[in-house]
Amino acid sequence: MSSDAKPSVLSLDLPALETWCAENGQPRFRAEQIFRWIYARRAQSWEEMNDLPAKLRTALAEQFSLFNSEVETHSVATDRTEKLLLKLRDGEFVECVLMREPDRNTICISTQVGCGMGCVFCASGLAGLTRNLQTAEILEQVARLDRLQSDDEKLTNVVVMGMGEPLANLKQLLPALERMQHALGLNLGVRRITVSTVGLPDRIRQLAAHGKPYNLAVSLHAPNDKLRDEIVPVNDKIGLDAVLSAADEYFKTTGRRVTYEYVLLKGINDSLEHAHELAEVLAGRNAHVNLIPMNAVSLLSIGGSSPQQARQFAAILEQAGTAATIRKRKGADIDAACGQLRLPKVQQMPDVQQLKVK
Ligand code: SAH
Repeated sequence: MSSDAKPSVLSLDLPALETWCAENGQPRFRAEQIFRWIYARRAQSWEEMNDLPAKLRTALAEQFSLFNSEVETHSVATDRTEKLLLKLRDGEFVECVLMREPDRNTICISTQVGCGMGCVFCASGLAGLTRNLQTAEILEQVARLDRLQSDDEKLTNVVVMGMGEPLANLKQLLPALERMQHALGLNLGVRRITVSTVGLPDRIRQLAAHGKPYNLAVSLHAPNDKLRDEIVPVNDKIGLDAVLSAADEYFKTTGRRVTYEYVLLKGINDSLEHAHELAEVLAGRNAHVNLIPMNAVSLLSIGGSSPQQARQFAAILEQAGTAATIRKRKGADIDAACGQLRLPKVQQMPDVQQLKVK
């Protein structure tokens, strides 16, 4: 970071902006104006905030930057999905995505640079974890994606399913999620926000205790410990039972039905026996299974299941009484895979051969 780097204004919540205004001889309502310019009115610069006195704008510009990252790459898919690769102050990269559907605009955001979980099919964790993102860096993804929309569009849903393990960075994530819900800003409902986790039981409990009923998605990917240990390496210290009981508690505390994500990997976890076993594991639970066709990762030899296999897998779950949907692929022509855009930027790649599932 260069020595003249200014803090991002996104590092301040509304009370902090109010304090700043008071300290700088400004009335309190100015803080709300600034907040609205950032989170509701999609300002791209300080100059644009034309109902603020020029002196105030100068003072703000001297002390804060509006954005701290640079857009390294902006890709637009034929289905109008847009993906940003952001270069952070320290030269690291993160990805975030805007997905459009007729009735909703969903963004997918990252919480870490890299990931320490090491799931064998995932591009984000190939070179391990570099660092946690700060609250402002999480919000900057949101603010930038929000600004990609036209005036008649708005963000309706947020999924924390980008790079990193969100529950390993709750400290920075929770204030960012709060900020997105503020009525003067993006005004997103808590039920519109989904946090996805590899399944860290203590952190799931911590999130439940936080008191906001966010949607929880648990990345299961296997119906037994032997297979899950191979696909999701952190499982060997946790175990399926512990993940499922934490998820059950989450449901009890928040009343939100838990979603289980299951990436279908050809010949690895996608047999009809696996589907039956998964149905058994989830029997009696108020669960929803999201079957995800694997996005190809150029460095990995693992591949996704065929659409036909996915449909059969889903049908078995449905017949057993477990709700299952196959996730639609969005932005396939720009996406390749989660974490994929950043890959060429990662300096030291490990020997990927060892990452293949046996
Ligand atoms: N660490 C969190 C959130 C980030 S990943 C988690 O594990 O849930 C979000 C989802 O994308 C997870 O279910 C993850 O397993 C899945 N995912 C990762 N790589 C993928 C790939 N190549 N294709 C399809 N889904 C992938």
